[in-house]
Amino acid sequence: MSFEDRKTGTAPASWVSMWTSCVGCLRDKLSEDILKQWILPLKIQEVGESILAIAVPAHLDLDHLSRVYGGLIEHCFHEATGRHLRAQFRRQFDMPVPSNHSPAVPFSSLPSIDLNPGYTFEEFVVGSNSQFAHSAALAVAKEPGGSRFNPLLIYGGVGLGKTHLLQAIGNHVLREMEGKRVRYITSEAFYREFVESIQHNRINEMSSFYRHEVDVLLMDDVQFLSGKDRTQEEFFHIFNALHQSRKQIVLTSDAPPGELKGLEDRLVSRFQWGLFVDIQAPDRETREAILRRKAQAQNLNISEDIISYLAEAIDSNIRILEGAVRQLLLQASIQHADITMELAEEIVNRIGSHQPSRRPTSGDITTMVAGYFEVEADKILEQGRGTKEVAQARQLAMFIMKELTSSSLKSIGQSFGGRDHSTVVHAIKTIEKAMEKDDSFRKSVDAIMGKLTSK
Ligand code: ADP
Ligand code: MG
Repeated sequence: MSFEDRKTGTAPASWVSMWTSCVGCLRDKLSEDILKQWILPLKIQEVGESILAIAVPAHLDLDHLSRVYGGLIEHCFHEATGRHLRAQFRRQFDMPVPSNHSPAVPFSSLPSIDLNPGYTFEEFVVGSNSQFAHSAALAVAKEPGGSRFNPLLIYGGVGLGKTHLLQAIGNHVLREMEGKRVRYITSEAFYREFVESIQHNRINEMSSFYRHEVDVLLMDDVQFLSGKDRTQEEFFHIFNALHQSRKQIVLTSDAPPGELKGLEDRLVSRFQWGLFVDIQAPDRETREAILRRKAQAQNLNISEDIISYLAEAIDSNIRILEGAVRQLLLQASIQHADITMELAEEIVNRIGSHQPSRRPTSGDITTMVAGYFEVEADKILEQGRGTKEVAQARQLAMFIMKELTSSSLKSIGQSFGGRDHSTVVHAIKTIEKAMEKDDSFRKSVDAIMGKLTSK
């Protein structure tokens, strides 16, 4: 394996792929301009046990970033990877400044609607978990403002298709009903618009836009308004005005109205005027149907065995299921290989590493790593450096211990011949770089970790 030291620290491929999924989620929730300005310049630096460290180039306002987008980034990271981490923004001065960078664009005109064209009713796989929500959404899309379902509130856990259904309504209306004006916005973005329009004295403009220039208001993740009293008040008035003029309102949230904490009672009671429906986690058959559909969309030929294996192994959320298909496609094309069960297992191990699984002991780890390098396990634990292979095996064992156990860096160092914390840090960095550079090494490490956690 190549252990070349490189000056520029790069994040391991698995972190980069987690971050890419997270950005995918942010893309659904933010306008293209905001995404370009605030999110795309960021780099993933570290995915720790409890923090998500993000490198911020010098031209971005760190406070603003953390205040306005921090929560949303954490939310999306959770949605994309299943991990609940706290975002930590770290200033990094040697990152490139985009050449077209202009200073923060204040709230000017409201950005145009921003719907993902792929989020349609046709692409939505209906299962018993989502049947009711799907019919209600379709009814609203066919007759916005005219059905009894006003407002319609769709609630449920992350990655279960709320945003998809919400945007499907928007896409349907835009396609079928000429002249209807659709406004899709997350409540986080609504909050931001509100704050910025106050700062720039444009509150009347904003309020008049929502009252008079929107026929269908789609507000995503309304729970984010929690505790933001003034934004809630503004929304309350907009809600009333729209409702009175029989304009359609559709909301999503992570909990039923009665359990939305931090929202004013009068707002919550409005949410209960129409219909609220939930989306549940999909059952096994629905997961299989979704996998088939996603594979088909990517022109990917996956055998029924593998579909069935994936549907069994990944039962958390649909975004993660979708991520598995994307990774299969990617890996198969990188390796110029067919999609085999082995590849599917490798991917499940990788995405599933955060799911509760067996925690290997330090003994398991050293034995397994020693086997890989063909060295004696005892030598890895000794104080002296030993041969090159022993030193490398030790570094890998330290890395795996950090990844798979809850041991602190200090105690990891102690178990390997009383080495100090900085030696462990160095070992971890070295392995990360090697994994980043050397694909076959990365695969071996993934396989070792997979074996260690799967027994
Ligand atoms: P939520 O808003 O509930 O967190 P999303 O709507 O963002 O979840 O869904 C996550 C991903 O899973 C999206 O890419 C979406 O297209 C896909 N997805 C969710 N439910 C379905 C479904 N029933 N059929 C097809 N794709 C789905
Ligand atoms: Mg969503």
